[in-house]
Amino acid sequence: MEIIELTAVQLAQKIRSRELSSKEVVNYYAERIRSLDGEINAFITQSFDIALKQAEEVDKKIAKSEEVAPYAGVPIGIKDLIVTKGLRTTCASKILENFIPPYDGTVARKVKENGLPIMGKLNMDEFAMGSSNENSYFGPVKNPWDLQRVPGGSSGGSAAAVAAGEVPWALGSDTGGSIRQPASFCGIVGLKPTYGLVSRYGLVAFASSLDQIGPMTRNVEDAAALLEIIAGHDPFDATSLDVDLPKFTEEIKKDVKDLKIAVIKELSGEGIDEGILNCFNNTLKKLEDAGVIIEEISLPSTSYALSAYYLIAPAEASSNLARYDGVRYGYRIENAENMLELYMKSRSEGFGDEVKRRIMLGTYALSAGYYEAFYGKALKARRLIRQEYERAFETYDLLVSPTTPTVAFKLGEKVSDPLKMYLSDVCTVSANLAGLPSASVPCGLSEGFPVGFQIIGPALSDHLVLRLSKAVEDATQFELKPLKELKK
Ligand code: GLN
Repeated sequence: MEIIELTAVQLAQKIRSRELSSKEVVNYYAERIRSLDGEINAFITQSFDIALKQAEEVDKKIAKSEEVAPYAGVPIGIKDLIVTKGLRTTCASKILENFIPPYDGTVARKVKENGLPIMGKLNMDEFAMGSSNENSYFGPVKNPWDLQRVPGGSSGGSAAAVAAGEVPWALGSDTGGSIRQPASFCGIVGLKPTYGLVSRYGLVAFASSLDQIGPMTRNVEDAAALLEIIAGHDPFDATSLDVDLPKFTEEIKKDVKDLKIAVIKELSGEGIDEGILNCFNNTLKKLEDAGVIIEEISLPSTSYALSAYYLIAPAEASSNLARYDGVRYGYRIENAENMLELYMKSRSEGFGDEVKRRIMLGTYALSAGYYEAFYGKALKARRLIRQEYERAFETYDLLVSPTTPTVAFKLGEKVSDPLKMYLSDVCTVSANLAGLPSASVPCGLSEGFPVGFQIIGPALSDHLVLRLSKAVEDATQFELKPLKELKK
């Protein structure tokens, strides 16, 4: 079999058994990136030299029959908002264009300790604000299924790199859908873990109460494996959960028979394209054949989710992004006359339009006199949403809906209309507001473009979410066409 056809887990096995060396695999992918990424633009920074060194270390250990981590030697790409020591981390912003972090975020450290060679840092919407990857200082990313279309966002570089076969797997982050929506648009698997399952230490903050790092992969088993690498308690993150973790790669092998799930009514009808609903409903039928019990549930508070999200996320962002002042980090204008001018001009020139829009929205929502009316109300809506989910999970193991209302849209189609853009997150934001694990799994094609099946579970049911994801994968036999069609 050719390297491109092997999953991350299969690559790891072949590297351990010395059928392949990690160096060979890294060189293969480096070559693919070199020939494809000029067009796709998934990488902001390539780090093949670092990856090769890491690969050689793994190969040496294996040659000496020394112990290596289970997936050692399998290359990875990392979204460019997870800080990597000595390797430029930009958040796709001019303000951090030349920022070289002095330390590794916890997830980056785990990736290195597990012997995964880092191929580079992946493109995204600036500071993870966006749904199309058009808000990147480094230019938009193209969807490998059709270069005229967006890959989704904000983890568009991660999704496109995986779908194009530029890396076997990648890390993304999800604040309101940024793993699941691009996964859906690019036909790959994406998992936003339970809030607190994966450390946020060294994840550049957008909205701290919502942000989570998660796997973006070609299949469910790889997602489970990558989650095993990155999950776990971290004293450096005060919101990190100290719990025993299940073995995700084993959990996905268990049967889904008699799992009781419900379709979220408000997210699975009106406002969702017909082609998406067809794929979704076909998949439900197949799950039923596999023994899953399927009902419907109404979650009326869902209608507040988008408004609550677009108040809470910008509010937190306006506070988190105050640190980019031209003094401590990144871009600084020359010859400022005074301190205020230094702040104002560095920020005006350093941030892009969407980031400025969010800072203004957030600052307004938090300002004296409006705090209760906007931020306070959004927090109440968030509590209602959470309670509604908790009640639903008294009856059901998991809830499901399509991941997005449409398939990948054309580049330029929504950039000038922020509200329209925000609407593409309608199905995904609730899980973040409630802190719940949620996956998107490809379940078919509509007009030739991938459709995502979304699964949401109670807190710490990531293993169950993955188990049903596996059943969806088995039921649909989805083919990631760009892997074969894009030739290096
Ligand atoms: N698209 C959403 C936004 O623009 C979600 C972003 C994210 O999850 N990082 O805020």
